[in-house]
Amino acid sequence: MLPYADARPLPEYLAWTEQVLAPAGFRPHHALPLVSVCRDELMHPFVEAVTATWGACFDMSSLGGYPLLGRTGLAAALGHAPGLDGRHRLVVHAFTHLGIDDDGAVGLVHRDGVEEPTAACGALVVARQALADGVSGVVLDRHDVEESHLVAQLRGRLGDAAPPDLATVTEMVRDLAVGELDYLVAEATDDHADLEVALLSGVVVHHRHRDLVAVSGAGVRTAAGRVDLLGSAG
Ligand SMILES: [Zn+2]
Repeated sequence: MLPYADARPLPEYLAWTEQVLAPAGFRPHHALPLVSVCRDELMHPFVEAVTATWGACFDMSSLGGYPLLGRTGLAAALGHAPGLDGRHRLVVHAFTHLGIDDDGAVGLVHRDGVEEPTAACGALVVARQALADGVSGVVLDRHDVEESHLVAQLRGRLGDAAPPDLATVTEMVRDLAVGELDYLVAEATDDHADLEVALLSGVVVHHRHRDLVAVSGAGVRTAAGRVDLLGSAG
């Protein structure tokens, strides 16, 4: 099976988000969208598409798509969430990304105006190489905060093991990002009984002229607990 064979075009992903979230009470303009994606301009069409459907997004972005905004950032977003019906709803789109070039090479993508294929996600390629070179991840570089934190998170997951291939590292970072978001959201819902957070996650796969979206996780967390949405639609 091709990697990400079940990935769907951006418009289909957005239509699906509306379909799967409506029964849970999430509707555009009655919920604040948040995006946790890489800073790479390749992710701009994804953010634009989310914005077109869900409205202007609160930006959680950092290199590789790992969220570093912390509880202060999430609290700021919470303060902006619509709440006219007494509930405050956030829809988080947490996506790592990966290029696949014309020859099927994973981790490379052709960009307009650039002759040779370039890395995507470049931050994860660099992090993977650092791990392969034995970087411990215990030192946070204050002049490279996002990348060194990414390496630290991956080292924590891998221990002393050699890094796996880039697609596996990409999934690992998605999982780590979801873990961090789950932690922050659980903390926030403990303090705010009127908060409901939908968390959608996966990988955006870049081909030369189009992006495809592979969804790996979808759930809603409230003060009452977490409900998985992937079993009900998809
Ligand atoms: Zn990237």
